[in-house]
Parts: sequence; structure tokens; C-alpha cells
Amino acid sequence: MAEYDFVKMQKKLSKYLDDDRYQHTMGVMYTCACLAMAHGYDIQDAQAAGLLHDSAKCIPNKKKLKMCNEHKIPVSEFEKDHPFLLHAKLGAYIAREKYGIKDEEILSAITYHTTGKRAMSLLEKIVYIADYIEPLRYKASNLPKIRRIAFQDLDECMYEILKDTLAYLEEDDAEEIDMTTKDAFLYYKDLHMKRS
Ligand code: FE
Ligand code: FE
Repeated sequence: MAEYDFVKMQKKLSKYLDDDRYQHTMGVMYTCACLAMAHGYDIQDAQAAGLLHDSAKCIPNKKKLKMCNEHKIPVSEFEKDHPFLLHAKLGAYIAREKYGIKDEEILSAITYHTTGKRAMSLLEKIVYIADYIEPLRYKASNLPKIRRIAFQDLDECMYEILKDTLAYLEEDDAEEIDMTTKDAFLYYKDLHMKRS
């Protein structure tokens, strides 16, 4: 457990995010804290992960690619075509380099907050889910149900969110889905089936 100066971190972060992204970030930060209370994780660590999860979101896509190059962050072919995805990896880089976060669990939760993955850690699930359910979110279907499950069962909640996310992405074009997300869905679907 680390000590954080949240006031200082928030002030700094607000310079790099537009108003909407900053408000979303506050929502995610406090939702992470609430989920940590419900599921037994260090509240401040969860809050720090939520605060910094989108720290790279407002960097222009070209610059995202350039920064990955400069800092030797690997970029997949899929990420080259969908550079917005890189805000997750770059966010972890910024959290470490600019905000002094050393906790690998926090850095990994930031790294996987967009795609999810198989067998996620408690904090990875908390950040992924908080990003989806924070109070300002309203577009996704099933939000009331998903918000309720989030405070009861994180694995079941991952299954519901990944299912809806893939269905939504498939509406456009099946090619547009990151394999990590598909893989995550299959993992949580399997858990779901084993239970019911
Ligand atoms: Fe994000
Ligand atoms: Fe976000």
C-alpha cells in the first residue's frame, strides 16, 4: 500500500485531459474505490489505478504511435490500425514515469482496462468494470443490471460486459475486434457456464 497525494495528482492530470475525460476519470476513480470496498482491495491503490487509467487518452493518435516507438512499447498490427487502443499501454507508462507508480498490479490494471484479458487479477477487473459502469456512462444496454452485478460478482460482471461489448462491436464489423477481448470473453463465458 502506497501513499498518494491525490490533490496533486488530480491537478496535474487535469492539464492533460479535456473536461469530459476528466469528469469520466473522477467517476472511474470513485467507482474503483467503491468496488474495492465491496470486494476487499486496498481503496487507495484502486483509486490511483482509476485516476490514471485514461492518462494517455487525450494524446493525438499520431503522437501515441510516436511515443510507443520512442519508449520501446511494442505495438501490434491491430493497434497500428486502431491507435486509440494504445492509450492503455501508454497510460501505464505515464503512470510509472510521470506519477511515480511502481505497483505492478496498478500498472497492469491500466494496461488491460480497454481490452480485458483472460484470468484477470482483482484490480484488473475492478478498473475494467469501473470504466464501464461509472455514473456518467449511459449508452450501454443493460447498465442497471451490470451495475448491480458489479457489487456482487466480478467474474459474472466481466462476462456480461464482454458479451455486450462484443455484440456491440460485431454490429459494425467483426474484423474490428481485438483478439485479446475475444479471448477474455471466451474465458469468462466458460466460467459462467461452469457455474450455471
Ligand atoms: Fe480508456
Ligand atoms: Fe476510461
